[in-house]
Amino acid sequence: MSPVLRESEVVFMYGHGDPDIYRAFAATFQGWGGAATPERARMFRELGMRATGSIWCLTAGAARLHADAALRDAVVRDIRGEPVAVPWLADHVHEGTPSWFGCTNHPAFRRLNREQAREAVSVDVDGLHIDDPRGSAGAMASGGCFCDYCMAAFREYAKRAAGEAEFRAAGVRDPERFDYREVVRAAADTREECLRKWRDLPLIEHFRRFQDEAAAENIRGIARAAEERAGRKLLISVNAYNIEDGFLPIVNLDEVTHIVCEVRQAGTAEPDSFRDTAEAYERARRAGKPVAATATGENWAWVKKHGAIELPKIWIAFAYACGQRFMAPDPERQWCHTHELGTHWYAAPAEQYAPMYRFVRANADLFDGCAAVAPPRVSEEDGLLTAFRARPGAQAVMHAVNLRCEPGAPGRPERIQPRRNLEVPLPPEAEGAQRARLMSFDAPPETVRVRRTGGRLALDIPELRIWTIAALE
Ligand SMILES: [Zn+2]
Repeated sequence: MSPVLRESEVVFMYGHGDPDIYRAFAATFQGWGGAATPERARMFRELGMRATGSIWCLTAGAARLHADAALRDAVVRDIRGEPVAVPWLADHVHEGTPSWFGCTNHPAFRRLNREQAREAVSVDVDGLHIDDPRGSAGAMASGGCFCDYCMAAFREYAKRAAGEAEFRAAGVRDPERFDYREVVRAAADTREECLRKWRDLPLIEHFRRFQDEAAAENIRGIARAAEERAGRKLLISVNAYNIEDGFLPIVNLDEVTHIVCEVRQAGTAEPDSFRDTAEAYERARRAGKPVAATATGENWAWVKKHGAIELPKIWIAFAYACGQRFMAPDPERQWCHTHELGTHWYAAPAEQYAPMYRFVRANADLFDGCAAVAPPRVSEEDGLLTAFRARPGAQAVMHAVNLRCEPGAPGRPERIQPRRNLEVPLPPEAEGAQRARLMSFDAPPETVRVRRTGGRLALDIPELRIWTIAALE
């Protein structure tokens, strides 16, 4: 059986009907659904790619909610019992019905999740991608969910999890019969007040954990329904935004094989740093779940607005150097999002990025099966990432990624300052290496000697443009 995601995997986010798009990137995996019809699924097979179907646990969608009273009942409710609409789908309204969050603790919405999962894997796919997997747990940031099903399930959870003193402090006389809504209303009886006081609401940490665990249980049920329908084990991926802690109960499920998500990238207007990105990848590594990442909608909106071409190349190199994968910037529709513009799209120039991915695939043996000997070293001050990776009984490699990208200004394009004669120290594990073959996507290979200075091993990279991989010999 092939590994879940190889280190050299070239993953696409959205599906395309034109096989040449995939060929240009030497793509191997269609990650975020995209194999929705038998014809599409066949195209991926013919390309030698693995592919997935996808569902989401966010909402039944405005049109379906409008038409189906049972689903209209199965939506996230605030403390007043009012349905809660998905804030970023404010423009998705069907004949007056908004896109309300579905409640993943309500049987009718759970049924829809499973039906959609079965349908998504009814064509020849390798796996299922699940978007917005936290469901009702994710809706807490919008003021839910206090529906009857959540309340009944939370009562059972709290009886096991909360102590007598906690119930007393929350003013609960009879844990067998308490209604959490009454407890909350005593402190905050509007949605706005709830959102303002979340942290201070009685029993809130238990409620949060209950929602997280219930969401994980829902994902497990969806995975089982899909595998029963497919009649085989499937790859199951989730969108675990930035691999943040709230997703870990889901990420840690045995059923979940990998993560396909946005990871916040450095170098745009956001205050994010390369170290933050490395830490997100590290959280996934610790969980034992490989990642196919893209940048956030805000990152991509910045790239589009500033015409930045080089910066995403750093993101790509950075991810692969960390042992993860950065999904091919979409040549037609890369999702962008800002507060002012909402959703919009960017067509990333394939001729700029495809060579990097072809380089990865052509040198798959420098990636596959390699593990970090130590966590990657990210120095914002030096503008440098170095990562030493090795595979037992095979060549070890040192990745060096130049993080110094000067944004463009009027009359001057963005620019990555090449680093000349860059000394890269090697760890003790490199002992015995004599030479290093320097590989880059944008230049022919060259060989340099490994040298010893003051008892330490090092090599010199004559010119680091964006990304050099030194294969030790
Ligand atoms: Zn609910």
